[in-house]
Amino acid sequence: MPSSLPVLDPPEPADTAPLRPPGRAADEKVNRVTSIPFILLHFLPFLAILTGVSVRAVALCVVLYVGRMFCITAGFHRYFAHRSYRLNRFWQFMLAFGGTTAAQKGPLWWAAHHRNHHRDSDGPNDVHSPTQKGFWWSHVGWILCEKYAETDYGRIRDFAKYPELVFLNKRDWIGPWALGIACYLIAGWSGLLIGFFLSTVLLWHATFTVNSLAHVFGRRRYATTDTSRNSAVIAAMTLGEGWHNNHHYYQASARQGFFWWEFDPTFYGLKVASWLGIVKGLRTPPARIRGANRISRGTFDGGMAAGELARLARLGQRDLALEG
Ligand SMILES: [Zn+2]
Ligand SMILES: [Zn+2]
Repeated sequence: MPSSLPVLDPPEPADTAPLRPPGRAADEKVNRVTSIPFILLHFLPFLAILTGVSVRAVALCVVLYVGRMFCITAGFHRYFAHRSYRLNRFWQFMLAFGGTTAAQKGPLWWAAHHRNHHRDSDGPNDVHSPTQKGFWWSHVGWILCEKYAETDYGRIRDFAKYPELVFLNKRDWIGPWALGIACYLIAGWSGLLIGFFLSTVLLWHATFTVNSLAHVFGRRRYATTDTSRNSAVIAAMTLGEGWHNNHHYYQASARQGFFWWEFDPTFYGLKVASWLGIVKGLRTPPARIRGANRISRGTFDGGMAAGELARLARLGQRDLALEG
């Protein structure tokens, strides 16, 4: 690293957070009844044991995983939540509809909750901070909680002014149902079970790792006040969203892999779309931003587990001191 760059130590919360979180509010619990369909959906792909798996169904699974992941990362995240580039109203609608087929609720619900995450990342008001509320809560629990089921339209006024987006947001079942039926028509039962349901379940958990694992394991390059981390593995699963510490550091950027070696297929797709004139005003991180606020100890660390080990070591030392 050039010596002219400022070298900072990471903020305390990243390394000292306890493994067992301070806890959640009384109204923050999983609704066991409404979660049943979500849980059952995880088992549906196993029915393919009865139907067999066709090549066409596997191809559908791959195409729908990549295509819908792009709609979530480029659309729900980098466009609707962060406005890191511009689209016309037609393409905005297409990306919103594509995102709804991933069965991650509506674009306005998704983006409004994500804006909330950035407002107080890993603070008490962060809906899905693993250090505040627990790992599984950050991964999936908060999505199954009644308290966060509604869209906070006040946080997404800029897009809530488009009636077609509000329509999609309120009828977020249309996309997944239409795609599920199309998969059945294209490749029969295995098309539905593997092409649609398996790719949907894989998409869920890959997307959720950005809220859970990307705040727990990985490398911190920039000094941010949260526990965000960069992970090549998560980036590979999520078309580039694993460079999460980069993203928390400079959220305005449509590019999350800040350097050429940081694999960011979502950005490559957006770049191609900009050459075609679909995407305008793609925002990227200026060199002075990329070079500033570096952490001196930006190496891989064990995240919450490392914090817990440090805490246990401190307790052990205290006990030894007391015994002495
Ligand atoms: Zn974000
Ligand atoms: Zn985050």
